[in-house]
Amino acid sequence: MDIEINIEDDRHFIDVASIVDREDFGKEIQRLRSVLRIKLPLTDTDFPKEDELEREIEVSRKNLFLSVTFKSILEAVVFRNRITDKDYSPVYLDKLQNGTFDKEGRTPDDTYFIVLSPEARDEDVIKALQQYRDQLGNVKGSKDYRYIHQVWEKNKQKPSIKKYRKWYMDRKKDISFADIALSETEHCLIKETHPTGKNKPKGCTCYDESTIRKGVEIYESLIWKTRTF
Ligand SMILES: [Zn+2]
Repeated sequence: MDIEINIEDDRHFIDVASIVDREDFGKEIQRLRSVLRIKLPLTDTDFPKEDELEREIEVSRKNLFLSVTFKSILEAVVFRNRITDKDYSPVYLDKLQNGTFDKEGRTPDDTYFIVLSPEARDEDVIKALQQYRDQLGNVKGSKDYRYIHQVWEKNKQKPSIKKYRKWYMDRKKDISFADIALSETEHCLIKETHPTGKNKPKGCTCYDESTIRKGVEIYESLIWKTRTF
């Protein structure tokens, strides 16, 4: 079978060429054309029904032991005998539609997932992730529905996020900032009297009220930032 392959990327070209040049692939294409009553070049009347097409493509895919990423390759060859970049990707972004979050139906609640195949490389996955990020907010057109890349910098000088959460919880229990600070000082591993704040000794886990206050504020804002819809 003489199939035209117009694929720029050499890796993708190899993935595709090594499959479509198999003898059983050619036989499967003939089976598909015959069962779907397709003759090339196509005319308007040659298009089979959508569900029939899907069913038969799936039969061929299984006969050939191919991953789902080759579905569009089968379709491209059946109808055009020609493959382009658009017909193949070893990894792709897909989604399930779960309706909307709100009763007005404004904010979509879709589950996105990345479909992998044995031909997948790291960069293909990164590309799908980027595509996911780019379209949130852009295609959706809703500024509330955006991708937020959560960066939490680890800084030994600063109290950890776990501390922030503990202080936040303490505040929920109506414990005063002064009492939280006192409790932190009581639990400091350095028992002798020592300076706190900027000049505190190594290993000191004392925190002053203003640090705790700030920590609780950061934690509160974080809770709202993680909302991605
Ligand atoms: Zn201390």
